[in-house]
Amino acid sequence: MHIVFAASECAPWAKTGGLADVVSALPKTLVKMGHKVQVYLPYYRQVAKAVPDLPVVLHSVTVPFPSYNRFVRVLDGGDADGVQMYFVDAPELFDRESFYATPSGDYPDNAERFGTFCRAVIEATKVIGVPDLYHVHDWQTAMLAVMLRSIYYFDPMLRHVPAVLTIHNAGYQGTFPPRTMETLLLPWDMFTFEKLEQYDKVNFLKGGIVYSDAITTVSRTYAEEIQTAEFGNGLEDTLRRRAGDLFGILNGADYSEWDPAIDPHIAAHYSVKKLDGKKECRRDLLHAFRFENTGEETAVIGLVSRFATQKGIDFIVDIMDRLLKEDVVLVMLGNGEEYYERLLVEMAERYPDKVRVQVKFDNVMAHKIEAGSDIFLMPSRYEPGGLNQIYSLKYGTIPVVRATGGLQDSIDEQPDGSGNGFKFWGYDSNAFLEAVQRALTAFRDKKVWKAMMLRAMSQDFSWEKPAEEYVQVYERAIQNRL
Ligand code: ADP
Repeated sequence: MHIVFAASECAPWAKTGGLADVVSALPKTLVKMGHKVQVYLPYYRQVAKAVPDLPVVLHSVTVPFPSYNRFVRVLDGGDADGVQMYFVDAPELFDRESFYATPSGDYPDNAERFGTFCRAVIEATKVIGVPDLYHVHDWQTAMLAVMLRSIYYFDPMLRHVPAVLTIHNAGYQGTFPPRTMETLLLPWDMFTFEKLEQYDKVNFLKGGIVYSDAITTVSRTYAEEIQTAEFGNGLEDTLRRRAGDLFGILNGADYSEWDPAIDPHIAAHYSVKKLDGKKECRRDLLHAFRFENTGEETAVIGLVSRFATQKGIDFIVDIMDRLLKEDVVLVMLGNGEEYYERLLVEMAERYPDKVRVQVKFDNVMAHKIEAGSDIFLMPSRYEPGGLNQIYSLKYGTIPVVRATGGLQDSIDEQPDGSGNGFKFWGYDSNAFLEAVQRALTAFRDKKVWKAMMLRAMSQDFSWEKPAEEYVQVYERAIQNRL
């Protein structure tokens, strides 16, 4: 099967979160299974810095706008583990400081940026090779599915090519003013509640849900959750209407990147067979956070997260006073909303002996925290898939999570301690604190803890099984469009 991925992120080139990890790992696995995969990504400033002067595949792809045309280039990003990368080069849209936003808000022309990208990918594939299926991701590329079934409706090359949309996070929908219909040359009759309109805005994600042949999301529980008002963010009815074509596939982990036995970013290697290295990683982490005098009995609690309301950062702040009465230190890495950045920096200032925070995006430090912590916190309000808890398991770092989305599907707490982590239900910081306390009780019992670590590390969340599930969805979508 020939599959084209169109996405706004792909590790290691452009990453803000889990989307990038999925768009990097799933294609690699599909290639190993014998499929042909090409990934299209915007040529952001950050990508251009990392890989300048790439060969040009297409010198000029025309993307029409109401009173002018844009002309973008397609660059050959080479072959990475059998996956062909293509970059869409439009400097006026993508040669910017960030991918989506400045600290003061989203780029005002995001509809034009990602609309251009979607159309450029369609046009490019018509020259480079039309696939058997397009796999699009989140609102940024959802419009590709909309365009296929509207302005490209009569294109004989594309008529039978389906699109599958993966929703990595229904909290981000890409909503723009009505005039966006005209900007992107979409027919006004699609600006209805059944199609693209939502609360008088053009909603890109909604368009993708309506027009894709199949929709997937990154865990089974989240696939159910988003069909309810609590998690659907207004799109629950639209999603319920597509329930027959909606599938939950739990993300895998890319163990070529996230495995303490081979991880190049950590101080020492370790595995189920030889655990010793974890102590060295712990020492290294404590050194990096200037907590050198921390004894073995003290639990090192780690957090790596986007700082956003979604991630339940306020639960952590809520329990801080009570949590710090325990024998713990807290090391946190993250960035995002300024409000949470400031809140956590304040916490670190208030409790200098027990709390440290690094406000930045730092992949190496993320690996060090996974490896060097004893316990990992993920009290997310909602969590479509979540990758850090899956990485934590592999690193023998026991997760404490809120039972939602992919956290619910991957973390199992058992009263007799035979699970792989700890979890709490409800929006309740007391319940969160109790779950952390249960983890600390287990931590103090060395035998119980080691057994739990080994059990967690032995679990296999590799991409092979989810990739097979994706192929089943692809095959069904292709079949249905014949
Ligand atoms: P989300 O996509 O909602 O942010 P996931 O758990 O699915 O959450 O994926 C998060 C990914 O981003 C993980 O690979 C995690 O290590 C990484 N990450 C998040 N914040 C940072 C940060 N500040 N520095 C480095 N990596 C980070």
